[in-house]
Amino acid sequence: MQFRDLGHQYRVLKADIDKAILEVAASGTYIMGSRVKDLERQLAEYAGTRHCISCASGTDALTLALKAWDIRKGDAVFVPDFTFFASAEAVSLAGATPVFVDVDGETFNIDHEDLENKIEATIRNGDLTPKVIMSVDLFGLPANYPAIRRIADRRNLLILEDGAQGFGGSVNGKRSCSFGDISTTSFFPSKPLGCYGDGGACFTDNDEWATLIDSYRMHGKGSSKYDNVRTGMNSRLDTIQAAILQVKLKAFDAELDAVNKAAAEYTARLRDIVETPVVPAGFRSSRAQYTIRLKSRTERDGLQEYFKAQGIPSMIYYPTPMHRQRAYRDSGLPETVCPVAEKLCGTVLSLPIHPYISLEEIDRVCDAIKAFV
Ligand SMILES: *Cc1c(COP(=O)(O)O)cnc(C)c1O
Repeated sequence: MQFRDLGHQYRVLKADIDKAILEVAASGTYIMGSRVKDLERQLAEYAGTRHCISCASGTDALTLALKAWDIRKGDAVFVPDFTFFASAEAVSLAGATPVFVDVDGETFNIDHEDLENKIEATIRNGDLTPKVIMSVDLFGLPANYPAIRRIADRRNLLILEDGAQGFGGSVNGKRSCSFGDISTTSFFPSKPLGCYGDGGACFTDNDEWATLIDSYRMHGKGSSKYDNVRTGMNSRLDTIQAAILQVKLKAFDAELDAVNKAAAEYTARLRDIVETPVVPAGFRSSRAQYTIRLKSRTERDGLQEYFKAQGIPSMIYYPTPMHRQRAYRDSGLPETVCPVAEKLCGTVLSLPIHPYISLEEIDRVCDAIKAFV
């Protein structure tokens, strides 16, 4: 059994993916080109935004967004304490300060009440200027955008949606990567829409920001690549990755249905035994992960050991809250209190899930959990 069986997906899509890769090889165009432009148009249409600007990774996409807004030293960006390190890392790379916000114990996403508290504390303290709320669509579930947008509007803050895990999710039919003033995603192979290497994208309705991101991703180009009007980056999507993504995008909706069906099968078997993932009414998750909560660290660690003995893969996403990462220890960040994130790090366990997982595999995982708990 595999945690996320990308080889299975390849075997299903092989004819089209092989053809696409060979076409790029024969074309002589390997970076950007019309395929990348076509893909950007398709992705923007899918997400429901005016612009999609692809780039080299999900981390770069966050960096490009922060550059477009000129976020820098002295600025505060509110980041959930329970996420992948890249969310906060991009803020630090920009020279700004991540202010960690606790998460909701059921959805795992940024807690809007603690967000209010952390914004107020930052204003009271006076050292930093609140600028951006970075919401993360963790494990595929869109953050609570109705509440976050109200806070952003009242406080005059920008929303940066880190949709690295969220592409394909939605709230009342509105799709992920359309909720931020700028939204980003990652095409890392194991993300909901993954390529065969690194890749990422920014999404926005704002023409000016789209132009800035397009410039920053290509050495701060002006009217041409050799007219450099700002210092930027080298962050482009390879043509071969765009070709692979075009094939995968065609299969994406069917895969979303399949992975949500797999999640429902898990929940039906597990809901009376452990805490299963919560998807609020009107929300749809892209099911980047299926993450259960155990009663204690001892029980969680014990279950993972038991899985290992049975040959069942599982992952702890994430073992350490952001503010306790070594990179942030003694770094002079404002004191952080995020009890829910701390608790989740000690009790969560992510189970094997992907669009091609079989009912037999799901049964095997669930039987092991039943036997252990
Ligand atoms: C994967 C991920 C990123 C970074 O994406 P890369 O393409 O690996 O750079 C950022 N944020 C979150 C929440 C992620 O899961």
